[in-house]
Amino acid sequence: MEKQIVILGAGYAGLVCAIQTHKYLASSEAKITLVNKHSYHQLITLLHESAVGARSDRSLRIPLEKVLHDKDVTLHKGTVTKIAPDAKQVVLEDGKSLPYDLLVIAIGSETEYFGIPGLKEHAFTLKSLNQARLLRAHVESCFARYPLERKRELLRFVVGGAGFSGIELVGEFADALPRLANEAGVPLEYVEIYNVEAAPGILPGFDVDLVKTAEESLKARGVRFMTGVPITRVEPGLVHLNTGDIIEAETIVWTGGVRGNQIVVDAGFETDPRGRAKVDAYLQSVNHEGVYILGDCALILNEQGRPYPPTAQLAWQMGAACGKYLYHDVRGGLKEEFQPNIAGAIASLGRKDAIGKIGRSFKTTGKMAYLFKDASNYRYLNKIGSVFSSR
Ligand code: NAD
Repeated sequence: MEKQIVILGAGYAGLVCAIQTHKYLASSEAKITLVNKHSYHQLITLLHESAVGARSDRSLRIPLEKVLHDKDVTLHKGTVTKIAPDAKQVVLEDGKSLPYDLLVIAIGSETEYFGIPGLKEHAFTLKSLNQARLLRAHVESCFARYPLERKRELLRFVVGGAGFSGIELVGEFADALPRLANEAGVPLEYVEIYNVEAAPGILPGFDVDLVKTAEESLKARGVRFMTGVPITRVEPGLVHLNTGDIIEAETIVWTGGVRGNQIVVDAGFETDPRGRAKVDAYLQSVNHEGVYILGDCALILNEQGRPYPPTAQLAWQMGAACGKYLYHDVRGGLKEEFQPNIAGAIASLGRKDAIGKIGRSFKTTGKMAYLFKDASNYRYLNKIGSVFSSR
């Protein structure tokens, strides 16, 4: 009798897992169902570009039907609200439940607000295409309103957090806001971009020389860094800092971190304090058999026992490995432990600049680094068989 394999989430991990599982197993052996909130896969590593209109939404939205049309994978558009591992069922928003024999959870992460008052209510975030769209519309409206209202806070943009996401966004702001100012007839010197970071420096974890290059490039394009300054409270149009200072800004974006998905925590999977599920060497939940947990939902430790950052590259490697594990679950045979192979990390600083480290020691900066990042996106599109459909 065929196994019911249910994969939750068509992000980097879930989609690659569905494609691989289809490759390994015949439809007589397994019925693969991929559940996703939207009918499309989102290239979320490029959301900062869409948030300023530098890249079209269409190019970041890949219709799942197009990717799956020639595969024995049933797409179920729906939002997961509950996972009941003891009953081996998943409950969706419309009340339907899906039974499974083998489950793959790849529903991504959530924004971490650290309990900072007002942050969730009054700051933009950048975790989906819809959020990028909202931010873009808001930024454009600030420029459109300025000639009528003449309020300087309309032209003040605050990004909270100078990790990867914050830096990539301020890089886009630095490139795009001068253009928007020009179009609206607003003097460029009135536009202020602040990047507020609690840690002593930006891009924690990156090599010092690359951080310096990034900082210099962004400062030269007008970004004002405030480091060692945690945001403590947010009100509509006001960012409170632990120094007692308040920044008046119409645009406040929070890129201060992520945590595991609450649905996974609520389902009783063993998690760490940041809500990431503990998995064994084969990506299975440590307390529920037959359940794989991938991508940002999972806690994967490196050789030093520290969590790997939740990146797209790690997610798709987990997806590919999980396809093999599912094959072994159905056909038998020995599984190999999951070994991440992190090729490097590249942070873009706008459309013409980036910093990156590839392998253990190769460092790259400038347009070349940006092209490396673009190439890695193409590599991924090729992997999911969608290299031409996203342009
Ligand atoms: P992050 O956790 O990497 O960075 C968040 C930053 O916000 C930290 O530097 C933190 O000190 C700061 N912060 C926290 N509280 C604050 C406060 N109260 N006030 C001011 N600053 C505060 O989060 P992220 O940038 O959203 O990235 C999330 C994950 O995704 C990371 O693991 C990252 O490596 C990964 N990522 C990778 C890429 C890439 O590979 N190109 C791109 C984006 C994100």
